[in-house]
Amino acid sequence: MNPILKCKTFKGHEAEASWQAGLKLAIRDSKQLLELLELELEDEPFRNPLEQSVEVRTSIQDHAHFPLFVTREYVRRMQIGDWNDPLLRQVWVDARERIEQAGFVADPVGDGESEIAPGLLQKYSGRVLLVMTGACAIHCRYCFRRHYPYSTGPRTLSDWQAALDRIETDRSIKEVILSGGDPLTIVDSTLAQLVSRLDEIEHLERLRIHTRLPVVLPQRVDRGLLNWLGSTRLSKWVVVHINHAQEIDHHVQDAMTRLRSTGATVLNQAVLLREINDTVEIQETLCKRLLQNSVIPYYLNQLDPVQGAAHFETEIATGKMIVRELAKRLPGYGVPRFVQEQPGQPNKIRID
Ligand SMILES: *Cc1c(COP(=O)(O)O)cnc(C)c1O
Ligand code: SF4
Repeated sequence: MNPILKCKTFKGHEAEASWQAGLKLAIRDSKQLLELLELELEDEPFRNPLEQSVEVRTSIQDHAHFPLFVTREYVRRMQIGDWNDPLLRQVWVDARERIEQAGFVADPVGDGESEIAPGLLQKYSGRVLLVMTGACAIHCRYCFRRHYPYSTGPRTLSDWQAALDRIETDRSIKEVILSGGDPLTIVDSTLAQLVSRLDEIEHLERLRIHTRLPVVLPQRVDRGLLNWLGSTRLSKWVVVHINHAQEIDHHVQDAMTRLRSTGATVLNQAVLLREINDTVEIQETLCKRLLQNSVIPYYLNQLDPVQGAAHFETEIATGKMIVRELAKRLPGYGVPRFVQEQPGQPNKIRID
């Protein structure tokens, strides 16, 4: 079947057929989420962590900036009645976020220092990253940019002029990465114009998109997106973000097929998360599901120490053990590199 036509048939979910409608209908209220999942707040496992430790200081202000937010499409893949569902745990705001832990900071990856023009980051040779928006279709509680000062960045196409000029004058830049937040929360007309500007910069060779929308809102991969992505002269790389095989349903599978129909190579990065995906079996199942869909497991990231996410951290030894074990079970291209971002380094550091 033509994958582009298939995306029009979201049976039974007419209201969410467009991605904009899906965003509007996303869940922002914890009571509503619990109702959908048939869960009772009084059974929540992490209600009172502060009672368990008298030493912690707490900061509550952060919740207002990064509230609960998750699409219905993603919620539908959660298990009813399971507080420990690996998808629920990625989005549920629990009290442990208020624990301030030494070493867990607002900007763990040194984004601020690598800004070379408004919204344009360069840390590594040959590639630059555009922080295009703060908006996402899901709020992952462990997000390393959860405290990023997006509101000060460029908004309209003309705000991006300084960044485009900078890219144009530096012939060593071969790749532009659209990132955020999630760049695919931006409308296609704007993205199409930006990409056509990039097309005109002769020394550019590659376009990369870092996005979670094909996973949490698969109808985002619609005709409008396929049109501009399919028509750029740049080689196309889409890096999605899937942490657990349960996140991949047939809508996501179809979205991956549609992305690849533009000639894009689709890669995945996952974050290693305590009690969510920190076993060999879970990672093996994830990698196999990705490979079934021609998605290459690219990076397995050690958690960046962002304030409020300390309870997701795993031991480095756990990640090492997992990827070594995966290497025995999967083809070489099916084993992700276990990496960590270390501020000031010339690349992401392999720690496997
Ligand atoms: C992670 C990142 C990249 C991409 O690094 P790769 O190792 O090429 O995936 C590029 N620029 C910035 C600023 C980054 O944080
Ligand atoms: S989708 Fe990515 S940028 Fe958005 S909240 Fe999740 S990890 Fe952060």
